[in-house]
This record gives sequence, C-alpha cells and structure tokens, in this order.
Amino acid sequence: MSNTAGLSAIPPVAPGAAPKIGFVSLGCPKALTDSELILTQLRAEGYETSKTFAGADLVIVNTCGFIDDAVKESLDTIGEALAENGKVIVTGCLGAKAGQQSSEAGGLVREMHPSVLAVTGPHATQEVMDAVHTHVPKPHDPFIDLVPEARGVAGIKLTPKHYAYLKISEGCNHRCSFCIIPSMRGDLVSRPIGDVLSEARALFESGVKELLVISQDTSAYGVDVKYRTGFWDGKPVKTKMYDLVAQLGELAKAHGAWVRLHYVYPYPHVDEVLPLMAQGLILPYLDVPLQHAHPDVLKRMKRPANGERNLERIQAWRAICPEIVIRSTFIAGFPGETEGEFQYLLDFMQEARIDRAGCFAYSPIDGAAANALPGALPDAVREERRARFMQVAEGVSIDKLRSRVGATMQVLVDSAPALGRKGGVGRSYADAPEIDGTVRLLPPEKASKTLKVGEFTRARIVAVEGHDLIGMPI
Ligand code: SF4
Repeated sequence: MSNTAGLSAIPPVAPGAAPKIGFVSLGCPKALTDSELILTQLRAEGYETSKTFAGADLVIVNTCGFIDDAVKESLDTIGEALAENGKVIVTGCLGAKAGQQSSEAGGLVREMHPSVLAVTGPHATQEVMDAVHTHVPKPHDPFIDLVPEARGVAGIKLTPKHYAYLKISEGCNHRCSFCIIPSMRGDLVSRPIGDVLSEARALFESGVKELLVISQDTSAYGVDVKYRTGFWDGKPVKTKMYDLVAQLGELAKAHGAWVRLHYVYPYPHVDEVLPLMAQGLILPYLDVPLQHAHPDVLKRMKRPANGERNLERIQAWRAICPEIVIRSTFIAGFPGETEGEFQYLLDFMQEARIDRAGCFAYSPIDGAAANALPGALPDAVREERRARFMQVAEGVSIDKLRSRVGATMQVLVDSAPALGRKGGVGRSYADAPEIDGTVRLLPPEKASKTLKVGEFTRARIVAVEGHDLIGMPI
C-alpha cells in the first residue's frame, strides 16, 4: 500500500551525523503503539528522532481517520509539516482512506496533500521504514541481534515510564454500521501469544507498573487462529482471552503491577475472567463499549454481542466481583432511534450503574454503512439526547464516587512535584489514564511520607471534586 514519490530528492546526510526524523503521533492508544514500534525501529537503525519539524531530515505523521475532527486534525498536521519541513511520510488510519477521485488507499491524503513522499495505512512499520530508507538512507547497517523485536527494555514508549499499552491484535471482524475501522485496519489478526507475553514481561521488567491491554475487540483474541496453542517460556498457552489474561495476571503479580482490560465485549466467555479479578490477579475494571442498550438499536448498529442480555451480564459480573468498575461509551441519536428506545437507554444506565460513561451525539462518518439507514435525526435532537444521557450518567458516576469517601485505596502516582510534599496526582484501579478521573493527593500529614511517580501509595479518600477523588496519602 505504500506509494513513494520524489526519489531524486534524497537529502544529503553529513558523514557521521545521525539523520533526524521528526515524528508526530495522533490518534488512539492503538495508533500510539504503532508509533512506538516505528520509533523503536528508527532508533535501532541509528536515526535520531525528534518531536519537532525544524531541523529534521524528514517528518513522519501517524494519523487518525476515525471521526471528522480527527481527519481534519490529521490533514492540518500534514499541511503544517509540509510547510515547515517539506518532506513528509504519512502513516496510520487516514492513510488507508480512499479519495474522491481515487478508490485506492491513500487517495484522500494524496488529493489533499499531493507532495507527501509516501502514504501507508496503519500497522505498517516495515512500509514506513522502506519509505524512510528511500528518502533518508540508513545511517549504518544495524546488527540484527541489536534490533529490538518489540517495545520493552530496549524499545521506545511514548507513555510515561510507569504505564504502557499492550496491543494484542490488529483489525476487527465486526462490521458495526457506524464504524469504518475494519476498512482501514482490516480483519482481526491476533498477535502470537508468546510474543505478547514476552513483550509484557519486558515491559514489567523495564519498570512498567500498569499494563493496559488494547485491541479493537479484546474478547475476540485468537478467533482468527482458532485459539491456536502457542508457546511461552517452554509451556503451551492457548491464543485465547482467558489464557492470555491469566498469564498476564501472574506476570503482574510477580512484578507488583496492574493489568487493565480495554475494549471487551459482553460475550458469555468474558465471565471467565471475572474470578481473576476477584482474586486480585488483574484489576476489577472493564472497559466495555456498549454504544446502546436497546436491542433494536444494537441490531441496527450491528454491534458484537447484540443478542446478549447486557444488564443481566453486568449484574452477574457484579455478583462475582462486587468492586468491579465498568467504563463504557454510548451513542445518542443513532438513525431511527425513537424516544422510547432512548428512554430505554436511560433506564439501562440507571439500573446498570455504569461507573464511567462517555456519550457522543451520533455523527455520520464518511464511508460508514449507517449513513444509508433511514430515520436520520436532526442535529438538535441528537445533541439534546446526548446532554440528557450525560446528566443521568454523571449522576450515577458521582453517586459511586461519593460512596468511596472514607475508604482506603491503592493509588498509582502519576505526578508528585517535590516528592509529593505539596501533594500529587494519581489513579486508583477505577481510573484508566487519560479517559477517567484521578485521585488528587493532598500533601502527606506525616513528614516522613514521600510520593514518587510510578510508585503505589495508599490513600484515604476524604472528598469528591468533579470526577476526581481527593485522597490523603497514608
Ligand atoms: S467492534 Fe465495531 S466499532 Fe469496534 S472496531 Fe470493530 S467494527 Fe468498529
């Protein structure tokens, strides 16, 4: 899928000087892990990398193409990189999109910015490296055994040292009618379980205290390879969500670290991982993007597990592991959504007591099947329903936060100036980085108590402020 141009424009590289590649990473955690792999490979081959365009021999922009705002941000960034530097390679989800004149992947980027040197889709480290080699030759031939296979001890992470995303698969077998990710990222391809577990161990050994498991559908891990038995540490392990999570839980326990699961759908087999949460092997936290509750809307959305009884499932999860925190996202005002269907969603929110919920007003995405559905609602109705949903969701969330006042929680410290003497900010098991709230830590009462980034502290919860808890380190 890589298109290259401007072969005569290879910039001269001063003898002995490492060529510098500017890098911009946009988009979701899955795009972030693609960026980490490309940056790791660049460094392994002897390139310098920088976050700025100025002085770089070439710029790589890793794009997002999911919603209109993300497309605009990506196109604007490519434009800025071209204006400031002139030599730009584009990768990521936007790079997989066709244009208006060209049905080929990359068409959209090329139509908007014809002078880019190369365009690839997501998860294309090798294609990006081929394009880099074409325009800025390798500084030296790397010794193959010095090239890190994945992130970890030798790899590059874009997250703080104490947490990391672990991508277990690429692509998706579902065809939700509002989504174009499968057309950009392809069908599900699960990473070999041995590779995933080796990467997890390397990350823990490098000091990671929280591993965030990501994919498009974590519950589908291994479906594409028929749950093939792989090997890790000389032992057979199935390429299956439960087996992966159980092994990750053991690794986390050995390193005193957390494992948090994202993008899990409410399939019956997910019930199997709840005991692992109850035993404390992985965090009692599930990010389950439900999008709606009414069965007819879910069918129109073509959602995975749309026939499941989500309310009963969530109640069963709470019976096995009462402290479980459930995060979810929803869409209000999907085409054809009746007031009754929307009310059903509000009732579901009240009953399911979803701890953390986000909601988008439905917005059509170029190329999505849902655009052809009858019953599009006016913008004002979609927005009004989103606001009503958030009112209910925030009520539930604040109630739940208030119930934590007086409790003692384990908190992973994210920032702590002056060793925490003026307090700091951390997160409990209930808070994923970037998307949930935080625990704002007060200056410790005990003079001997310090707070260090990337370490755990216990904190007594003393108040709630907005979506955050206030805690006294103890
Ligand atoms: S599960 Fe649905 S929303 Fe998620 S990536 Fe797959 S098609 Fe898109």
